[in-house]
Amino acid sequence: MNSKLAMLPLPSSPHEGVKRFEDYRGELRERCEVLVVGSGPGGAVVAKELAERGHDVILLEEGPPVGRREFTQEAGEAMQRLLREGGSRAARGTLAMPTMQAVVLGGGSVINSAICARPPSWIFDKWADRTGTSLTRADLDPHFARVEAQLGVAPTPEEVQGERNLRFKRGCEALGMSVEPIWRNVRGCKGSGECFTGCRNGAKRSTDVSYVPAAIRAGARVYTSVRVERVLASGRTVTGVEGRVVEPFTRKVHGQARFEAELVVLAAGCMATPVLLQRSELCGDCGWVGRDLRFHPGLAIMAMFEDPIDPWKGATQGYHSLEHLERGLKFEVLWSPPPVLATRMPGLGHAYQEQLLRYDHLAPFDVICAADRSSGEVRAKPGSLDPDIRYHFDQRDVDLMREGLGILSDICWASGAEAILPGLHGLPEVIRRREDAEVIRTHALRASDTIAAANHAFCTTRMSPSARLGVVDETGRCHDLDNLYISDTGIFAASSGVNPMLLCMALADRIAEKIHARL
Ligand SMILES: Cc1cc2nc3c(=O)[nH]c(=O)nc-3n(C[C@H](O)[C@H](O)[C@H](O)COP(=O)(O)OP(=O)(O)OC[C@H]3O[C@@H](n4cnc5c(N)ncnc54)[C@H](O)[C@@H]3O)c2cc1C
Ligand code: SF4
Repeated sequence: MNSKLAMLPLPSSPHEGVKRFEDYRGELRERCEVLVVGSGPGGAVVAKELAERGHDVILLEEGPPVGRREFTQEAGEAMQRLLREGGSRAARGTLAMPTMQAVVLGGGSVINSAICARPPSWIFDKWADRTGTSLTRADLDPHFARVEAQLGVAPTPEEVQGERNLRFKRGCEALGMSVEPIWRNVRGCKGSGECFTGCRNGAKRSTDVSYVPAAIRAGARVYTSVRVERVLASGRTVTGVEGRVVEPFTRKVHGQARFEAELVVLAAGCMATPVLLQRSELCGDCGWVGRDLRFHPGLAIMAMFEDPIDPWKGATQGYHSLEHLERGLKFEVLWSPPPVLATRMPGLGHAYQEQLLRYDHLAPFDVICAADRSSGEVRAKPGSLDPDIRYHFDQRDVDLMREGLGILSDICWASGAEAILPGLHGLPEVIRRREDAEVIRTHALRASDTIAAANHAFCTTRMSPSARLGVVDETGRCHDLDNLYISDTGIFAASSGVNPMLLCMALADRIAEKIHARL
């Protein structure tokens, strides 16, 4: 235990005290009581909570700290700097489906839309059915409340919604569907719609500017640009990790790094944690490491309005509808950088140019699907830490998605769209009359007809009280090892139904409490 419980003074910059690539000379060798790998939502919460309870904590992160003045709106450059494989990572299977993971201090919380949603209680019944968990929403409510208070989670105010979000709201209301402002972890959001490339306004309470500084204030040591390559163990006991120092952005490999610890928490994310375990030949007995990968595939329809709506103005995602959540469908407003959306525009030559010219009239609305019948697998690529990702998008889930697209099309028309761009192979590129859009419901849609993307990923080190049915128990501890924990979305026993970050953080808060109780 760290005897220095007194807090250090508030830093002047949120990344003050973070150790960086420039600080390292030669081999890195350190010891600590608790070592946390990964500074995203799962890892940063554990590091802060344990440091504040007096433990000697080291937090390791492969990515560098990126300050708000370093963010760029240029999408290609931002993706190259902040995302794994430059943002081109994809799952292979019934379709090639892009899936993005960040490599930066703060992980996915730096580039996500800051949506914070508590899953409804029936989600945990589904978890119980799949792996026998007994965890309930009531068990997690105090943890949700603590995380929400730390991050200042609140509904998106009307002033920063912008016309794009307000049209979605109008569409849902006209159909009699429930619709609510999204709760987000932001403070003073200006509605600039740039969440994906990093918040230049410093409004987003990503973990690098919230939990990580709090962890440092409580005495935690935070090392960035350190890539863990192997977890070291002897029998049932983990002794630490080894890896390399990597240059920011180029990820060029430099010196060796070795950290010894009494307890290790892997929070490298749903793709990286199973790869680390496989490379380290750990936790293999149950057969679930890397298996049972679950996604929320998402599809968008662009609504085109007669009048310009300046869609870049307004919170990135400001309204959603949970009306069909129990059926596995969630509807949201969406925004992403212009070059990314431009890839979704139909047509060639002049036709394409015309669509681009009407860019200020467009609003993308999306549907995400719980996809409970689809699953995949993550395996370590030989000689690499990048995952080989396979995914089977089950036809029953594709059919459900088609139903969702039918509802999404209704929302577009009810919001006042004069045309829609469905973005599906085999359908017209532009539909100008509502009655013609019925084809979305009748078309025999296959997975390969869609341009789905999936940024919510889970279950690759799933939780179960049974060592036969899961990798970790309900406290996050690996069944096969006495002092190895996992705290990222990989431990979900099934879909979170809603956006996963807040659930990941509430579980992390609970895991920290359990670790503290046993140390
Ligand atoms: C574009 C986008 C938008 C999203 N929007 C939302 C949203 O609005 N709301 C929501 O709930 N969810 C959203 N998500 C999903 C959410 O961001 C993730 O579910 C969440 O970040 C997962 O947290 P994590 O801690 O499990 O993993 P991560 O956030 O991936 O963090 C893992 C960290 O570990 C580091 N790491 C990995 N391997 C190593 C290694 N070997 N050594 C050292 N460090 C390593 C990574 O660099 C990373 O920083 C979005 C995701 C994306 C991509
Ligand atoms: S919408 Fe703009 S100001 Fe608001 S959190 Fe996102 S990037 Fe920051």
